[in-house]
Amino acid sequence: MAPEYILIEYTGRDDTVAIKYIDEMDFKGKKVFVRADFNVPLDKEQNITDDIRICETIPTIKYVLDKGGAVVVASHLGRPKGKVAKEFSLRPVQKRLSELLGKEVLFADDCMGDEARAKAGALKPGQVLLLENLRFYAQEEKNDEEFAGKLAELADVYINDAFAVSHRAHASVEAITHFMKECGAGFLMKKEITSFEKALNNPQRPLVAIIGGAKVSGKLEVLENIIQKVDAILIGGGMAFTFLKAQGMEVGKSLVEDELLETAKTIMQKAKDRGVRIVLPVDCVAAREMKSCVPYKTISVKELTPDLMGLDIGQETIAEFGKVIKDAKTIVWNGPMGVFELEEFSRGTFAVIDQIAGSSAMSVVGGGDTDSALRKSGKMDKITFVSTAGGAFMELLEGKVLPGIKALDK
Ligand code: AMP
Repeated sequence: MAPEYILIEYTGRDDTVAIKYIDEMDFKGKKVFVRADFNVPLDKEQNITDDIRICETIPTIKYVLDKGGAVVVASHLGRPKGKVAKEFSLRPVQKRLSELLGKEVLFADDCMGDEARAKAGALKPGQVLLLENLRFYAQEEKNDEEFAGKLAELADVYINDAFAVSHRAHASVEAITHFMKECGAGFLMKKEITSFEKALNNPQRPLVAIIGGAKVSGKLEVLENIIQKVDAILIGGGMAFTFLKAQGMEVGKSLVEDELLETAKTIMQKAKDRGVRIVLPVDCVAAREMKSCVPYKTISVKELTPDLMGLDIGQETIAEFGKVIKDAKTIVWNGPMGVFELEEFSRGTFAVIDQIAGSSAMSVVGGGDTDSALRKSGKMDKITFVSTAGGAFMELLEGKVLPGIKALDK
């Protein structure tokens, strides 16, 4: 007998989960609880300054409506810390969501209680109800079962389309699934998981990872996991200097985590044993201080004197990285190559973006700073997939099974 739905596996380091995606589910006559991530930036007048997160959830909401369902959509916004706070209301989202859907979106001033129950209960197929901020209740972040049970009462089916919060076991992400018979992942979640799976677990080779950012400590688990999967790792950013020092180089005032020198050596040895190429910077843009308008110069990393710090990769390194990127069939990138926030030290990051953008490889990029550098570059559309998440993307790179994904495994 043909399966009722297609199971798609998502592989974490310790576990494999099988989840249902939205396009394999039936919504006719059903009320569907969609957990979205509408955590959008607002200005002082409560205007949304970037609506990408709302736009990304539209396909999921529209799909449910087109298939004869009604949608109860819920999200958090900001950090109200378990208290009602007007500045964190989802009212501005109601307006924008309604414009994007081209239809009225109803609103409940509380995510539970009589009003939410009555409005959800009265929903007809094709209608959308947005609930007020989930984090007005401290129980949300505590993954409280009772709170989750009350949310679950509002609908028949659960869809998680909030990938960016799926590394958190929160009530609307995890505990709610204990009360729902049918659970699945929305289109945004599907895009995030399948792109990642394709890039890291089922890649066309060579698979090249580009890892940058400030510290090795923040990327340790990422490095340990990807070493088992990739063909080459290009290391840039501040973290490169711990690796260079571990090779016996003097790196001046550059960012170094001395307590991780041994770990860096172990990582390089593991890479060698596995035949994974690690490419470190050969030159850097160096200055006496990390600030704008100070004199700076490009020098070999061997020329770093005690008064200098490396703040970006240099031209030779850009060229070396470029050769590896050119041959790659799959690229995964996280972390800037230098202090890209300051123009003087941003060239390495933007050069690498140009190289990825010019490559025909499948490219998957994620992380907060990486995303903002990419946006600044105006080359977003040249990347195969840009994750909407920071922390959740990092945890996937670390090989973890995210609680919000695991919870969908029924
Ligand atoms: P992360 O959050 O670990 O990806 O780190 C991002 C931060 O790393 C950015 O704010 C960059 O300014 C910083 N960064 C990149 N390269 C360097 C460097 N060479 N020295 C110090 N900080 C750096």
